[in-house]
Amino acid sequence: MADFSQLPVYANLVDRVHALPSIGRKTADKIAYHIIEMSDQDVERLVQAIQDAHQRIHRCSVCGNYTDKDVCSICSDPSRDASTICVVTRPRDIIPFDKSRELNCKFHVLHGLLSPMEGITPDMLTIDQLINRIKNGDVKEVIMATDPSVSGEATAMFISKLIKPLGVRVTRLGYGISIGTDLQYADTMTISRSIQYRNEL
Ligand SMILES: [Zn+2]
Repeated sequence: MADFSQLPVYANLVDRVHALPSIGRKTADKIAYHIIEMSDQDVERLVQAIQDAHQRIHRCSVCGNYTDKDVCSICSDPSRDASTICVVTRPRDIIPFDKSRELNCKFHVLHGLLSPMEGITPDMLTIDQLINRIKNGDVKEVIMATDPSVSGEATAMFISKLIKPLGVRVTRLGYGISIGTDLQYADTMTISRSIQYRNEL
C-alpha cells in the first residue's frame, strides 16, 4: 500500500462524505482525514447526532413539514390562520416564508415537483393529502409557492386545476421572484413582495 489514503476503509469514508451535497472530493478528503484524527468520544457524538436526527425527524402527519412530533409546531399552533395554506416544494422552503412574517398561515409540503422526464407523477407527491385538507377544513385561499422553474409552474397549474372546483381562491407568487431562484436563499424583502403581489391562478 503506497500510503494510508489508498486503504479501502479510508477510501470508503471519503466516498461516503463526497456523496453528501456540496462536498467536492478535496473537501471530502479533508473531512475524512479530520475524522481519523478525532477522539473516539467525538466520533461517537457525531455518529449519534446523525442517527438521532435521522431517526427522530419525520414528516408531520398533516402538512409534511419535518418534525420530531406527530404534528408539527405550525399545524398545532392555534394562532395561525387555517383559512390560508401556502404550498411549498420541500420542508426547508417554509423557513423563508415564515421569516418574512407576511403570512401567518398554515403550510403544505409537496416533497417534490411533477416531472414526467424524471418519472415523478402526482401520486408521488402529497397532493391527495392537500385535497383532503381543503375538503375537511375551512380553507379560503391556497398560495402556490412552488419553485420558480418549469416544473414548479407546471406543478402549480396542475394542482390549481384540481382544487379550484373545491371553491378556494388559488394564487401564485408574483413580482420579485425570478426563474431559477432557490427560495431557501431568497431574502425576506423579495419573499414579502412576492406574497403581496401574488396573482390569481
Ligand atoms: Zn404540520
